[in-house]
Parts: sequence; C-alpha cells; structure tokens
Amino acid sequence: MEHTSNFIKTIMKKDLESGKHDEIITRFPPEPNGYLHIGHVRAILTNFELAKEFGGKTNLRFDDTNPLKEDESYVHAIKNDIEWLGYKWNDLFYASNYFDIMFEKAIVLIKKGVAYVDDQSADEIRENRGTLTEPGKVSPYRDRTVGENLDLFERMKKGEFEDGSKVLRAKIDMASPNINLRDPVLYRVSHVTHHNTGDKWCIYPMYDYAHPIEDAIEAITHSLCTLEFEAHRPLYDWVVRECEMKHTPRQIEFAKLRLTDTVLSKRNLVKLVEDGVIDGFDDPRIASISGLRRRGYTSESLKQFVRETGLSKSESGKVDFRMLEHFIRQDLKLKANRTMSVIDPLKVVITNYPEGEHEYLPATNNPENEELGKREIPFSREIYIEREDFMENPPKKYRRLYPGNEVRLKHAYFIKCTDFIKDEDGNVVEIRATYDPETKSGTGFTGRKVKGTIHWVDASHNVPAEFRLYDHLVLDDEANEDKPFSERVNPNSLHVYNGFLEENMKGIKPYDKFQFYRHGYFSVDPNDTTESNLVINRIVSLKSSFKI
Ligand code: ATP
Ligand code: MG
Ligand code: MG
Repeated sequence: MEHTSNFIKTIMKKDLESGKHDEIITRFPPEPNGYLHIGHVRAILTNFELAKEFGGKTNLRFDDTNPLKEDESYVHAIKNDIEWLGYKWNDLFYASNYFDIMFEKAIVLIKKGVAYVDDQSADEIRENRGTLTEPGKVSPYRDRTVGENLDLFERMKKGEFEDGSKVLRAKIDMASPNINLRDPVLYRVSHVTHHNTGDKWCIYPMYDYAHPIEDAIEAITHSLCTLEFEAHRPLYDWVVRECEMKHTPRQIEFAKLRLTDTVLSKRNLVKLVEDGVIDGFDDPRIASISGLRRRGYTSESLKQFVRETGLSKSESGKVDFRMLEHFIRQDLKLKANRTMSVIDPLKVVITNYPEGEHEYLPATNNPENEELGKREIPFSREIYIEREDFMENPPKKYRRLYPGNEVRLKHAYFIKCTDFIKDEDGNVVEIRATYDPETKSGTGFTGRKVKGTIHWVDASHNVPAEFRLYDHLVLDDEANEDKPFSERVNPNSLHVYNGFLEENMKGIKPYDKFQFYRHGYFSVDPNDTTESNLVINRIVSLKSSFKI
C-alpha cells in the first residue's frame, strides 16, 4: 500500500513540472442522496489535501443529476461535515447548474452523428447490451437521421414523451470489449421535480455523461474517484473529446476505504432506520461522519486514521475498526481530563466517617499533561462504587472489595469492607466499610499496602448522568463472515446505565470529552442531553490489543 506520499501526488507533480498544468484543481463531488461516511473522508482528504499541497484549489460540487433520490437536507448535512473536518472549498457548484450546457453539448453530439434517440425500453437496452463474451445487438433506431434525432430530442425536452419511452444514447461501438462503450445512455426522460431546477427539466443526464462535462467546465485537472469507475474512464474521455470541451481533466481512480464491524451502504442503513435498530443517520453506532462525531470522535482522529490507511490503486481489504479506535485514544490521551464516574452504582457507607461532614481532596486532571491542572473532589460518609467492584464470594485473585478486604479509593483513602446489606431478592444494595484517615492519598502513607484501587463518586455531591455504552453494530467475526447482512446485526449494540459523575463536572456541554478512570473515553451526547438529563456516550474503552 502506498503511503500519503502517493501515486496521485506523483502524477500531479509531473503535470506541474511538465507545464501541462499551472495549477492543480480538484473537486469533491458528493451526490446529495444521503450522509457522508468514513469512506468519504478518504475522498475528501485526498482531494483537499493534495490540491492544498500544490497551492491549488478544491471545489465542492453537488452531483445532483438524479432528482428522485436527492434532497436539500443532505446538502446541508454534507457541507456541515466537510466544514467540521476542517476543509474550505474554493467554489460551491451544483451539477444541475450545468444542465443547459449539457443539453447544448448533446445537440453537438447529435449533429456530429455520435448520439441518437432510442425507443427501446430500459429492459430491452439492458438485454441487448450483450455480455463479456457476446457483442451487443444494434438498436433498430440506431440509424435515425440527424434531423430526426434533433427533432425527437427537442420533443423529449419539451415533455412530449412518457418516462422510460425514449433515451438519448451515444453511438460508439456495440461490439466493444468494454461494455460501458456499447452505446451508453446519455439522457433519460423523468418527469420529476428537481430540488434545484424545479420543473424546468423532464430529461436528466446520466452520471457517465454529466460527470466529465462538470469536471471540464470547472477546469478540474485531476478528477479523483473510486475504482469502480476505472472501466468507465474510456467513456469519460470520449465525452470530454466528443463534446469538444475546452479543458481535458484526467480521471484517476483509487481504492475505497472499507471498515470491519460496521455498515456504510445507504441501502442497509435505511433498512436499519426503518426497522428501528438505529435512531437515524447520526446514530453513534454507525460510521457516518455525523454518527462518529456524535459518538465523540474528533475530526483530527478521523483524518489521522484515514491518512494512516494510505491510498491504494488496487482493491484492498477492510480496515480493522480497532485502528480507528486507536486514533481517538491517541488524540484524546493528552487532551482529555481523567476523572471518575460510576456507571452502575452501589452505595458504600463509611461508618467511622463523621456524619454530616465532607472534605475536598485534590487530584491532578491528567498525570501525563500538567497543563490541564488540578481539581478538588468532594468526599464524605456515603459514596458510590461500581457494582462490579464488590463481590460477596470472590474468586481467587479478585482484588477489589469483599467482606474483610481493604482497597484504595483513587485520590482518597483505604477502605475496608465490614458488612453488606441485601434486599428481599438477595441483591446487594449497600456496603458498610471503615476508612483509615492515615492512608489519605498524597500524604506518603507507607504503613501497609493494598492490592486493588477502585474509583468512586460522592453520594451527595455529584452529577447524575445517563451512560450509553456501545458494541459493534455488525459482527464481522469469522463465524459470521458468510451470513447475509441482516443476520450479522448485533442485537446488543447499546447498553444504557444511570450513574454519577464527579461534582465538578456540573455544566459540561455537548461534545465535551473525558477519560473516565478505568472506563474509557466519553463524550456528551448533543441530541438527547437536556437540562435535566445528561447523556454521555462511550467513544471507546481504554484497552486494546490492536497494534499499528
Ligand atoms: P455510498 O453509496 O457509499 O454513500 P457513493 O459513491 O454513492 O458512496 P458519492 O456521493 O457518489 O457516494 O461519493 C462522493 C465521492 O466519494 C465519490 O468521488 C466517491 O468515489 C467517493 N467515495 C465514496 N465512497 C467511498 C469510500 N468508501 N472510500 C473512498 N471514497 C469514497
Ligand atoms: Mg451515493
Ligand atoms: Mg455515487
């Protein structure tokens, strides 16, 4: 795999040195028919960063030539995602703004005798296209005269024909070994209102015809796209040449970015939304840019991840989701405060601590980054610990709290479990313990040692919060590999808990990020957090076996 110093960069460099171009101009051309995902970050980063490196520019162009699936709301979401990633486009264009030019160019093609109106149905056209081993069948309408084609095409535009009754096709070669060159369709009739051009048009250009014209109009020098368009490149070049465009952009393909344990395709995501498995296209469990942002990923971590995956000109396997997680840990390691939270609380009463009193204990916010400063944590007779940090009958090597055992409370004192209380159903509901004032953290106590350190939050001075812990949405493990998508969906991808944060977390805001001692990295949810209900998403746990 080639690294960030990649094969596209080499081509651009050569084109500048040889004088073929004075300036590099790229574009990012999303279709506004859904949300951007982590794969798109590769395309965005490649286009914006390469152009920038050579002092060139990058346009944002909405490739809105298919009105049926497109919507203005996606336009806003896409712009927002690109800005959030930290990129600024030079010009903003809509492919639909070029509909007039595309129409004029189609007339040019007809007049040159290289385009014709075909009355065959879409099914007939598909059937007659042939296969890899068999040439296609020539359409009975292929020899229409220029005059007849001009007349019919004008009437297509005027709305005289029903959807699907006529198309405009390029006249190239029905026997070409490249099926894309077997008289591809350039225009279809579609009586649909367009989000930008309204009802002005009832014929719309096909992607393979529209895209090269869009690129050429904007004087794009290098038109970067994913590998599935490689076989379309001869058609791309044909359109630019036959339409006699002033500029000749060069299409260059690179491999798509794909990720394990998730789903990127819109078709599958729509199904998950419809089935109520996820709560929208920004659900924190999906790898849309907005989902990852809501989960707590930073734009820096996404970009670092994508850079590190490199850029390849041949199909590559899926990238391990754990690599993405590695980069958010890296990014937050020194930036995030390390504080305590109790996610699944169990009360501890410290019987020898004076009733009605409390004290404040100092703590450093990030031992690896002194700049983040210090804080004071309240401590009193009643605290919460994690339910799993107590066991009535512990197995060997359990070092946390159990009857008779002493542990260290992080930033506080040693406590020893003296008793516990159960409810009618036999669940432990309260722990009794004593503390030793001599063992106060930071005083240099060396009298005796304990094996376990656990975290805690004061029971009366705290901030209640809802914690959302996530597992992968789709399981890609070997056992599941060959199963259809619907059977790979993980039914337990969300776990909700009600617990507590330290008191000094009062006033935290959406997207604020923390490391919670022993639990991992977390971020405040922007959608569901209200005045009275603070919702916190776990971005990622602390440990990973993943190595780069
Ligand atoms: P999807 O159907 O997965 O949303 P798409 O190709 O339909 O993807 P477009 O809006 O057409 O989405 O994509 C805009 C640009 O992003 C295109 O140039 C496309 O090649 C590129 N792109 C799409 N998916 C990926 C990916 N997984 N990795 C890298 N680039 C991608
Ligand atoms: Mg798409
Ligand atoms: Mg597409």
